[in-house]
Amino acid sequence: MTCELVFVGTELLLGDILNTNAQYLSKRLAALGVSVVHQSVVGDNPERLAETLQIALSRSDAVLTTGGLGPTKDDLTKEVCAAVFGLALEPDARSLARITAFFENKGIEMPPSNAKQAMLPRGAVIFDNNNGTAPGCAMEKDGKHILILPGPPREMQAMFEESAVPYLKPFTSGVILSKEIRTFGIGESAMAQRVDDLLSLENPTVAPYAKSGEALLRVTAKAETAAEANALLAPVIGEIHSRLGDVIYGVDVPSMEAATVALFKEKGLTMATAESCTAGLVTKRITDIPGASEVLRCGFVTYAADTKEALLGVKHETIKAQTVVSEAVAAEMAIGAWKRSGASVAAAITGLAGPGPDETGRSAGLAYIASTDGKTVWTKAVQTGHAGGKGCRDYNRTVFATHVLNELRLFALFAPETRPGGQPIDYDVKDMTA
Ligand code: AMP
Ligand code: MG
Repeated sequence: MTCELVFVGTELLLGDILNTNAQYLSKRLAALGVSVVHQSVVGDNPERLAETLQIALSRSDAVLTTGGLGPTKDDLTKEVCAAVFGLALEPDARSLARITAFFENKGIEMPPSNAKQAMLPRGAVIFDNNNGTAPGCAMEKDGKHILILPGPPREMQAMFEESAVPYLKPFTSGVILSKEIRTFGIGESAMAQRVDDLLSLENPTVAPYAKSGEALLRVTAKAETAAEANALLAPVIGEIHSRLGDVIYGVDVPSMEAATVALFKEKGLTMATAESCTAGLVTKRITDIPGASEVLRCGFVTYAADTKEALLGVKHETIKAQTVVSEAVAAEMAIGAWKRSGASVAAAITGLAGPGPDETGRSAGLAYIASTDGKTVWTKAVQTGHAGGKGCRDYNRTVFATHVLNELRLFALFAPETRPGGQPIDYDVKDMTA
């Protein structure tokens, strides 16, 4: 079954609210084996909505709408959909009773305008709304279907699961399964180049995309059953692993922080952070993951140079000789955090989030990261390439934080001899003041 999504609401066109229903429905329909072939957003305008529906119905088996089911005059989705199928609206006694009860339960009088929500197309399958007043419905004509769902995401999602899924089930065959291969430390085009021939596969399909400084590959298979889809995915994912190797940090993991926290848990390790330019973002992202308390000891936010000395034991001479954004300062921050936290591994960052260069003329986007387990110290210089302009600071700090998380992950993953990407630096950990 092919399907189109039509999102109704002038607020969506104005950018006042984000179209989260699009993401929810697209993901869920794909999992059900329904191909979503188009999405449209249309304002609360009956002519344009009718036109959009006509086009959608001319090329797809089903149209799902959300929004426009409110009690006010501008909410017209049901009216327009019914008209497109040539159906009259008639009062539905059961829906009216449910809407009346909804208000009674809240102890408020039902505004007369809400009665409009109980008017439904003749012969439609009615979808109860267990979280609000507006019922949805589904109707069929000449083998084409329109499914109408409310706009508020909570109501829409519940109705979709409870009523639309069972309605669609007989028309769906098979499943669409997607796996996301997440990489870090390689650009999108470099990654795509290494798997170029796989990008023209038809089932599964392989598609590259970039997100917050990370490059991802989405591998999607369509088959009768989930087992068959997985069987199609496995060899292609295996091939991608052999091409990309260590830059892959996870398949179907939600984020770098999730991968890092999971790895620390698995290995029974603990971590600490010392952050300057990211000012807690790394620690925030670690604690976004449920169960972070099992692995995180503490985070130091040392923004001003003298606090790096006071709280982490960074040497005054090091800052003076190397500047505060330097490999040596990052190393001393990491060692200081390791000594003070009692964590297995500590990672530190000092850098230039921007916008604009620092007083020595170095461009924003530069950061030094260090990590240590008290035996070896690894450092990394990062240059994001985002030296100024809109969003620079946000982007740099996000990418910096991902690098720090990745350095922690590499520490947990590899013994010093096998770790890819260089050598630990020569640093006398004992030399640091405790
Ligand atoms: P409506 O059914 O048009 O009365 O929708 C009411 C409310 O639902 C809107 O004001 C939004 O807050 C929310 N809403 C409508 N459409 C969407 C959408 N596509 N994504 C997220 N929220 C939505
Ligand atoms: Mg509306």
